[in-house]
Amino acid sequence: MKKIKLFLFHHVSLIKIHVLSSHSISIIINVFTLDIPSKFDNSILEKKFSNCSVCNSDLTSFDQEYLIEKAYKRFPDNLGEELLFEIAVCFDCAGRMKGELSKESLENISTFFQEKSFEQKQANPNPDPSILLNQCLLSGKNLGDMQEYQVYAHCRGGQLADPHSYYMLSDKIIEEIQGLLSDHTRDQLQKFSDDNIGMPPELKKLFSNGDLIIL
Ligand SMILES: [Zn+2]
Repeated sequence: MKKIKLFLFHHVSLIKIHVLSSHSISIIINVFTLDIPSKFDNSILEKKFSNCSVCNSDLTSFDQEYLIEKAYKRFPDNLGEELLFEIAVCFDCAGRMKGELSKESLENISTFFQEKSFEQKQANPNPDPSILLNQCLLSGKNLGDMQEYQVYAHCRGGQLADPHSYYMLSDKIIEEIQGLLSDHTRDQLQKFSDDNIGMPPELKKLFSNGDLIIL
């Protein structure tokens, strides 16, 4: 079966055209919204993040790019889950954090992502967007098989940067990433924490533990 895909971005919609055969053309229109999934809401305010957790800048202004990261602990036997932490960081702050990490750590993380995501793409070339929050991007492990996990979204001006710009990582993969950080990088994360007055104590603790990684 010959299959051609054409992606047309028109603000909030993605139009997918499948050519099923030379004689029959079927047009399937899937509208993938750019709305940020409610999973990424600010849990305290129970609405979308509107300010950077570090510098308080307005995230809803046009073209402001930012990242949201949330971590969850799952209870056994599908008895629900608990939010461990959440943060929204503008690109300026994320860039400053990244600038403090060692070149070696960044290269290690980048190589790890490339290798693991390549393996997953080989195994599943066209993942359904509906599984993005239910399956680890880098291991393919299902949510039901994890004790902890983290979700990430790349956003712009109060919306997703693109319909697929969010993913989740399993506890095992995050452990592997933490193992790639050098001592220098851990020291710099501590320094960044100390330099940012006003950061909540629980966030400082995460920085000092090296548990928070802005990718
Ligand atoms: Zn900021």
